Amino acid sequence: MACPHRAIIIVTGDVPGTSSSIAKERFEVSCDLEDAHGGPHRNEEHSEHWEDRGGPVTHVVRSDAG
Ligand SMILES: [Zn+2]
Repeated sequence: MACPHRAIIIVTGDVPGTSSSIAKERFEVSCDLEDAHGGPHRNEEHSEHWEDRGGPVTHVVRSDAG
């Protein structure tokens, strides 16, 4: 049985000339590991890993700067 956890990955980028950032990309990944596994959730296709906060869907914000 697969882990039911998913993550919404939000990639942000800086707006040139300002100190603000905007969401440039947003996609959803599901955990590839087995149900009730230990440690962070992981998606191999996107090389993502994340810690959940108790819910089945976790929002993860990534900056593409650097
Ligand atoms: Zn998982």
